[in-house]
Formats: sequence, C-alpha cells, structure tokens
Amino acid sequence: MIELKNSLQIEAMKDAGRITGEALLAARDFLRPGITTYELDKVVHDYIVKCGAKPSFLGYGGFPASACISINDEVIHGIPDKNHVIKEGDIVKVDVGAYYKGFHGDSARTIAVGKVSDEATRLIQVTRDSFFAGLAQVKEGNRIGDIGAAVDAVARSAGFSTVKKYVGHGVGANLHEAPDVPNFGTPGRGPRLTAGMVIAIEPMINVGTFEVYELANGWTVKTRDHKLSAHYENTIALTSNGVVNLTLIEEDF
Ligand code: MG
Ligand code: MG
Repeated sequence: MIELKNSLQIEAMKDAGRITGEALLAARDFLRPGITTYELDKVVHDYIVKCGAKPSFLGYGGFPASACISINDEVIHGIPDKNHVIKEGDIVKVDVGAYYKGFHGDSARTIAVGKVSDEATRLIQVTRDSFFAGLAQVKEGNRIGDIGAAVDAVARSAGFSTVKKYVGHGVGANLHEAPDVPNFGTPGRGPRLTAGMVIAIEPMINVGTFEVYELANGWTVKTRDHKLSAHYENTIALTSNGVVNLTLIEEDF
C-alpha cells in the first residue's frame, strides 16, 4: 500500500532531506585521491550524527556502514573498506540516508575524482539528466511508468542502458516503501501519481550492458561487463502545490 503523507509530514521530511543532502556535500568536499572509502563513510556518519539524525543505512538489513560507496563498475551498495583507496580517475557513487523526526531522506550522487575519462564525464551528466527527465513527469494524474519511460529514453538516446534489477521506491517512516519506481517503463502504466506521494527517483545508468550481479559479500552490485555505472538520486514529494525536491540542496553536483 502506498502511504500518502500530509503537509505536516512532508514539512518534517524536509529536515531529513536537507541533512541527507548536506551529508553528501560533506562527502564531496572530503573526497580526493588517497583517502579510503572507510574514511569517506566516517565523514558522512559524523555529519548526520552531528545534526542529531541517525544514518538510515547503518544496520539496515545488516549493512555495516552509513553510506554505500560504489566505485567505477560497482553500481550500488558498495561497502566502505579501510583497504579501498580512492584513485585519481575514479567515479565514486555515494548513497546516503538520514533519519530525522520519524522520517528518512535518501539521496545519491556520482562524483568524479580528479580528471576522469570523457566517457565517465558524459555518463555522470546523462545520469543526472535522466533523473530530471523523470522528475518532469511527476505530476498528479501521471503514472509511475511515465517516470521510468522518461529516464530510460534519456539513457538510451545517449547509447547507455538502465539497470532493471534495482529500482527507486517510496520513502517515509520506512526507508523503502511502496511503490517501486523503476528506471524504465511504459507511459500511462503503473500506479497513479497522487498528492502526498514521496518517492526516491534514482537512475542507475550503465555504459554497457544493463545486466548486473551481486558479489559474494551479499551487498556490492557490479556491472556484468565491468564497464562504468553512475547513480543519481533524490527524494521528492508530490504535493497539491507541485513537486518538492526534499534532498536537493543549493549546491547540487
Ligand atoms: Mg539511496
Ligand atoms: Mg533509494
């Protein structure tokens, strides 16, 4: 069942969203060659805790860290690691959730470390563009399939593919709620978009095949062909006054 949020609940969700967005900014500002993914996670963790919030991912399904940090051909759910040193030329996906006043925020960015390939730069840009194409479909009366179709069209026209196995989702008192929000779909199909819906739209776009697999650690998801993948996510609310991007902060990247 889709849990619709009233205006007071959406107001409260703005705080969780802002903390989530700011934690990502803290990660971006700290990110440089030579640091470990463990250190990057600690920056996210400490920022969220400093705000009086709780890292949504820490302990979720047994996940051992506050941020998912996934590099290059890792798509999502990378586990921060003291032995994983970030290098010049990497693209780093940082996915963060903060729980505050009873609600979660969920947001992700892909960050280029120093000079990256032209292909990587284009992938990051197309992934971001595909999010905003999906977002433009969020209006009362449209359907979930309109969002996915718009995301997928942007990825395909760039010659890239969208991950099918992992999808966006409702967000609220629980990190993952109904409905699923796939990054592909048929216009006019799926649940109807209604005021009070809060969803995470999160394109995961691959340079090569859409196919992915999970590592033996039970978390990290990689592209089947080991080509690059990028991720861009915000938690957004549909209200009777339009769309509110809860996790987008002033300095987007
Ligand atoms: Mg996320
Ligand atoms: Mg999410």
